[in-house]
Amino acid sequence: MLNVFSVDLEGWYQSLSPDPAPVPLAAQRDGIREGIDRLLELCGRRNVKATWFTLGAVAELMPEDVKRIAAAGHEVASHGHAHDDVHVLGPERFREDLRRAQGAIEAACGARPRGYRSPKWSAGRAGPWYFDALRQEGYAYDSSLNPVPMLGTRGMRHDAHRVAGVAELPPMAVRTMVGWLPGGGSIGLRTLTHRVILGRARALNASGELAVFWVHPWEVAQRRLAGRMPLATRLVCNTARVDLAARLDRLFGELPFGTAAAALAEREARAPLPEIAEPAWREDRPRW
Ligand SMILES: [Zn+2]
Repeated sequence: MLNVFSVDLEGWYQSLSPDPAPVPLAAQRDGIREGIDRLLELCGRRNVKATWFTLGAVAELMPEDVKRIAAAGHEVASHGHAHDDVHVLGPERFREDLRRAQGAIEAACGARPRGYRSPKWSAGRAGPWYFDALRQEGYAYDSSLNPVPMLGTRGMRHDAHRVAGVAELPPMAVRTMVGWLPGGGSIGLRTLTHRVILGRARALNASGELAVFWVHPWEVAQRRLAGRMPLATRLVCNTARVDLAARLDRLFGELPFGTAAAALAEREARAPLPEIAEPAWREDRPRW
């Protein structure tokens, strides 16, 4: 069974905002490129094909890099254009952001993105208009509803499902003594034990479900973000980050991985996805 290895292709500050003084994306180009090189090398060594949820702004800034990601056989999907929270954008500006990103990605690599991931898991604060927009703009799947209560809501599902005609591939969460944590990426993937991470993915697979992993280029790059960083940013950025490349290499040898599109096709060939009318939206979402 294929699991999903995904990369959110963006700069440092975008993962870690709100930052009082974000470093411009153009100034982060070398660090982003170093992360891309490292991830392409890690994937290439184990013949893993990944899905790169690419920011339109990165595709505009570094079209050649996006082109070589696609040329290496990976899937290029969309992470929106400017990394704005979708619930703040609202229905109209969300579509504009989606289209701008799509144009930049297509111009860079010639492929139209079929999958989307919302910046900072903000889709949970959107509303029914979110899935309507994705479906109408031609997106087959989304990977944005995070079942970790701190990032999404307690009621969000852990399994692949379908909302208003769009497949949803939730990121992998792991239950720990302190509750659900992000296990397929972020600080969870960099701090939880390997046994816990692998065990959760294998348990999902045993129940017929795929596991979704995600990383960012800055997590595997040696180049540090220049300038002053707030303490919280420094902690998130640096905690156990040195182990991530080795951990990924090990996971690539232990679990089968594929692109989100390939894993979804395989999952749907086994059994239809459960259809739900609406996900468990966050209570604090704005009413558009
Ligand atoms: Zn992001």
